[in-house]
Amino acid sequence: MENSPEALIIGAGPAGLMAAEILGSAGHSVTVAEAKPSPARKFLMAGKSGLNLTKAEDMDAFLAAYGAGAAPIYPMLRAFGPDAVQDWARALGQPLFTGSTGRVFPNAMKASPLLRAWLARLDSLGVRIQRRWRWQGWDGGALLIHTPDGLRRLTPRATVLACGGASWARLGSDGAWAAHLPGQVAPFQPANMGFAVDWSPHMQRYLGAPVKGIALRAGSQTSRGEIVISRAGIEGGGIYEVSRAMREGAPLLLDLMPDLTAEDLRARLGRPRGKQSVANHLRKALKWAPEKQALLMEFARPLPDDLAPLIKALPVIHHGPLPMDQAISTAGGLRFDALDTGLMLKDRPGTFAAGEMLDWEAPTGGYLITACLATGRHAGRAAADWLAR
Ligand SMILES: Cc1cc2nc3c(=O)[nH]c(=O)nc-3n(C[C@H](O)[C@H](O)[C@H](O)COP(=O)(O)OP(=O)(O)OC[C@H]3O[C@@H](n4cnc5c(N)ncnc54)[C@H](O)[C@@H]3O)c2cc1C
Repeated sequence: MENSPEALIIGAGPAGLMAAEILGSAGHSVTVAEAKPSPARKFLMAGKSGLNLTKAEDMDAFLAAYGAGAAPIYPMLRAFGPDAVQDWARALGQPLFTGSTGRVFPNAMKASPLLRAWLARLDSLGVRIQRRWRWQGWDGGALLIHTPDGLRRLTPRATVLACGGASWARLGSDGAWAAHLPGQVAPFQPANMGFAVDWSPHMQRYLGAPVKGIALRAGSQTSRGEIVISRAGIEGGGIYEVSRAMREGAPLLLDLMPDLTAEDLRARLGRPRGKQSVANHLRKALKWAPEKQALLMEFARPLPDDLAPLIKALPVIHHGPLPMDQAISTAGGLRFDALDTGLMLKDRPGTFAAGEMLDWEAPTGGYLITACLATGRHAGRAAADWLAR
C-alpha cells in the first residue's frame, strides 16, 4: 500500500471540489483524483452559456423543481440553497446578477474567473488535485487509481465519489463508474435534452434558427422558452424544460401565438383572403416569424379550414430524445437506498457520493449546479465527521 491522503475525492467537478473545500477547511489532508488533464471541464462548458449558478426563488418552489424523487436531497438543498450558493460565489470574488426569470449568473457570464478563485482557495487549504488519475474500482479495501506513472492502490480513511452523470463524455462524465457499483445504480437516461425530428427538405433553410415567442406544453410541464431548429431536431432551453414529461411519453404541443386566444386568431384569419395563397394570408394576418409558419406547415399539413386550434396546440412529431451524450444532464445514477443520510455507501463505510452521479434530476435554471454543490458539501461534512470519529 502507498502513502494515502486522509480523504480522497474522485472527480474535480463542482460536487467534488465542494467536498474537497469542506474537508480541507476541516483540516484534513485531501487529494482530488481527476481523470481528465484539467479540472471542472463540464463546469467550464456550463460557463459558455453564462453559468446559471442557481435560481432565486422561495424554497418550496425551488425544491418542487427537483420532484418528489429527489426528496432525500431536500435537507441538503435547504442547508445550501440559492442564498447560500450566491454568498459562496460572492465570497470567491464573483459579483452576481439575477435575470428577470430569477436565474442567477456571475456578472462575468462565464465560469473561469470563479473556478480560478476556487482552485486558489483549495490550494491554500492544501488540497492537491491530481490530473489524469482515473479511479478504476476497488481491490478489496483499496481504491485502484490509474495514473500516468502506473496503477496506484490507495487506502484513504474517507473517500467521496463525485464522478458526474453520463453525458458529454469528452468532458469526463462518461458514467463508466457505474460498473464499479453493481446493483446500486438506476439506469441513466437523458435529461434536459433535445428531440430528434426528421425534417422535410423545405425545413433546411431554417436549420439553426431560434424560434422565439412560443409556449410549449408536454403533460404537466410548460415553458415559454426559446427553441432552436437544428439539423437533428429541436433543441434549446424551451424544450429542455418540458423534456422530462416528453421522455415519459407526453406529446409535445406548441402554442405558436401564446399571447392571442383562439378567438383572436379566428378574427384575424377570418379577414377575406382574396387571391392570396394561404401562406401569404397567414403571414400578413399574423405577422409572425417565418420559422413559426414553417413549423405549422411542417406539422399541420394538410391544413384544415380552422387553423386556430392547431396554432394554439400544434402536435410535434418527433422520434424521441437525441443521444444521451448530447444531453445537458442525466437522470438515474447511484440510488438513494444504497446510501445513508450522510450520503455514505451502506456497503462501504467511509465512502460517500455526491453530485450528478446520484439518482436525482432537475431542469436547467441553476438547479443542477446548486444540487451538486449542496450534495458535495453534505458528503464533505459527513466525511469530515467520519474522520473525526
Ligand atoms: C453544455 C452544458 C451547460 C450546462 N449549463 C448549466 C448551467 O448553466 N447551470 C447548471 O446548474 N448546470 C448546467 N449544466 C450541468 C452541470 O454542469 C452539471 O450538472 C455539473 O457539472 C455536474 O457536476 P458534478 O460535479 O456532479 O459532475 P461533473 O461536473 O460531471 O464532474 C465530474 C468529474 O469527475 C471526473 N471523473 C469521472 N469519472 C472519473 C473517474 N473514474 N476517475 C477520476 N475522475 C473521474 C470527470 O472527468 C469530471 O471532471 C450544464 C451542462 C452542460 C453539458
